[in-house]
Amino acid sequence: MEINPDTFCAATWFQVRNRQDMTKTVCCQLDWTTKDLGTEKLTPMEYMNSPKIINMRKQLSQGKKIKECSVCWRNESNGVLSLRQAVNEQLLRGGWSELYFNKKDNYETDMILIADVKIGNTCNFACIMCNAQDSSKIYADWMANKDSEFVEDYLKEDSMYLEKSKSTGYKTNLYRKHINDLIANNKHILSIKMLGGEPLMDKNLLQILSDMPSSRKKKIHLQFVTNGSHNLKQTTELLGNFKKIEYHVSLEGVGTMQEYARYGANWSQIESHILEQEEYMNGSIQVQHVMQASTVCKLHELINWVGENNIEFSVDNLFSPSYLSLQVVPNKLKPVIIKHLQNVKPFAIVQSTEYTPYSINAIIDTIEKIVFNKTNFDRYKKYINFYERDKVLPAFVDVCPEWKEYFDEV
Ligand code: SF4
Ligand code: SF4
Repeated sequence: MEINPDTFCAATWFQVRNRQDMTKTVCCQLDWTTKDLGTEKLTPMEYMNSPKIINMRKQLSQGKKIKECSVCWRNESNGVLSLRQAVNEQLLRGGWSELYFNKKDNYETDMILIADVKIGNTCNFACIMCNAQDSSKIYADWMANKDSEFVEDYLKEDSMYLEKSKSTGYKTNLYRKHINDLIANNKHILSIKMLGGEPLMDKNLLQILSDMPSSRKKKIHLQFVTNGSHNLKQTTELLGNFKKIEYHVSLEGVGTMQEYARYGANWSQIESHILEQEEYMNGSIQVQHVMQASTVCKLHELINWVGENNIEFSVDNLFSPSYLSLQVVPNKLKPVIIKHLQNVKPFAIVQSTEYTPYSINAIIDTIEKIVFNKTNFDRYKKYINFYERDKVLPAFVDVCPEWKEYFDEV
C-alpha cells in the first residue's frame, strides 16, 4: 500500500482516546470538532475499524487534508511540529512500518499501540477552573446548587450535562471493560497516558499495570496527569520496571495559592510527593500550569519553585470559561504581575507538541497583549463568591492582596 507522508497520520491507525462519557476518538486535537456519539459501547478495536475511522485513515493515507485535522495543517503551515508529525515520529521509527504497509492491502488496523485513558470524573479536588464533568466533587456541589448562574451556563449548553456527568467514573462497567480490552489484554500497547479526574485514585488500574509481566512492562511508557495528592514514589514502586514512568503534575501555584485554586490540595504534601519522586527517578516529573486570572499574580512564585528544583515546566492558557481567563485582569494590575515575572529564576520548558513552549518572555507577552473585558471581570467577581461559599478557604483578596482594590469597587 502506498502512503502519502504529507498527510499520513499514525494516530488514525494505532491510537485511541476515550472521553469521560466513554465516547472515543483517535487524538486529543479532534476533540473540539468531532463528537463520536454512539461509540461508548464499542471496544477500542471495533471503534478503530468503524467505517468513519477507516474512511479518515484512508483519506489521510491517500494525501487528503481532511477538515477535522485543521489544527495539524495549521501548525504545519506555520512551521510548528504538529501532533501528526510527532505521533508519526514516535510510532514509525525503527523501520517496521515499511514492512507493515508494504504487506497491507486494506485500511483496517490490526493493533493499538497508544492509549489515552480518561478514568472518568472521579476526583478528590474541586479546582477553581474545573467543572462537574471532570470532578466528582464539583458534580456533588453543583447538584446542590443547580440554580446558580454558573451551573445554569452548562445546563443551557446541554440540559443533560449533570445527568451525563453523574454516569462517568472509574467504577462503571464500560470503563472497566475498556481498560481490560485496551491494556490488560492488548499485547501491542506501547504507550499509555492516564488522565482524570484523578487517575491515581483508580487502584484497580494501578494493579492491572503492576501485574503485567516484566517482558511487557519493559516496552511500555506510562504517563499520569495527576494532581499530586497521591504518593508518587510509592506508586512508582508498585508499578515496577516500566520502560518509562512520568508524572505530569498540575499546579496552579505554591503554598496558599495552590491550596486556594485547587480546593482539596495540601501544598506541603504535594511538594514532598514531587520532590521525593524526582529524587527517586530523575526526570520523571513535569509541572503543568494553566495561566488564569485567579493565580497569575503568584505565577512568579511557581516559576521560581520549578526553577529552584530543576523541574520541567509547561504552561497553557485558559480560555474557557472566559470569566476566569486573563481577560479579566485589570490593566493597572498587569505591570505589577509583569514586574514579578521579569525577575524569575531560569526554568526548564517542557518540549512537547501538546503545549506551546512558553518562555518567560512569551508568558509576559501574553499577559500584556490580552484585552480587558469588563463584562467578564464583573462575572469573575461573582464567580469568586460562588467558588468560596461553603468552603474552608481564605478570601481570594487575602491570598492575592493585589486584587483587593478591584474587589472593593462598587
Ligand atoms: S488532528 Fe492531527 S493527529 Fe489528530 S488525526 Fe488528524 S492529523 Fe492525526
Ligand atoms: S484535580 Fe483535575 S479533575 Fe480534579 S478538580 Fe482539579 S482540575 Fe478537575
